[in-house]
Amino acid sequence: MTSIATAKRWIDGAKRVVVLTGAGISTDSGIPDFRGPQGVWTQNPKAEKLSDIRYYMADPEVRRLAWQSRLEHPAWSAQPNAGHAALVELERRGKLHALITQNIDELHQVAGNSPERVIEVHGTVRKVVCMSCGWRGPMLETLERVRAGESDPACRTCGGVLKSATISFGQALVPEVIDRAMRAAAEAEVLLAVGSSLQVYPVAGAVPAAKAAGARVVIVNAQPTALDELADALLPGSIGAILPRLCAFL
Ligand code: NAD
Repeated sequence: MTSIATAKRWIDGAKRVVVLTGAGISTDSGIPDFRGPQGVWTQNPKAEKLSDIRYYMADPEVRRLAWQSRLEHPAWSAQPNAGHAALVELERRGKLHALITQNIDELHQVAGNSPERVIEVHGTVRKVVCMSCGWRGPMLETLERVRAGESDPACRTCGGVLKSATISFGQALVPEVIDRAMRAAAEAEVLLAVGSSLQVYPVAGAVPAAKAAGARVVIVNAQPTALDELADALLPGSIGAILPRLCAFL
């Protein structure tokens, strides 16, 4: 098996590292993933309904539960961890070409990665969008309305259904965002996939896209992923322990 030291040499020698992160990079910050052993869906399969646009649009009760769960979202108190800090270091060293993230928590930006390097393919929970007129606003303001007693707050502009500005299951991705992610992946010398089960498409396609364009693929994840056979270096274990070693200057 290829070692951390070998993968680090590839990163040290590269000018364009593209990182793809998933929910696993934020578990050390107290935000559970979906499919890991403590994952939201592993623990409660019904929670998947709250992330499905069809149930959300059709059923006010699902929306009420979704707003309650947003009120309690761990992102409001979460702080970036050593894994996020390692990717800030990678950018500081001038190596981070793009940071494609499936995460909706904005912890990469909170940690200090430049917003223009972060490509949020599944949106952000820190903003709200109206499903009818497209109005967008800060999540914390709408959560104040929920706290004040509106269990399913409607858009103040048009009365439409409000939702976090995330891509739910059954909802189309933003084509320009996913195109940008795929273009960046194809420009990578090293594609570093961190904390993702690599099961969600099209974003997982960044890994074969980078590989086909000649990049080395490094996968850091506690459990096997769906694309392990594409890895030039498969580094199983804790992100908090491995990523700082991979990205550090020394
Ligand atoms: P996933 O839940 O499918 O997979 C996460 C993977 O990370 C698992 O294989 C798990 O073994 C691994 N992992 C968890 N903690 C780890 C650690 N500390 N060290 C090493 N490995 C660890 O996640 P996914 O592939 O990102 O897909 C889930 C979808 O859900 C994404 O599309 C994302 O939008 C969304 N989501 C986001 C957040 C967030 O923003 N933090 C949280 C949950 C889900």
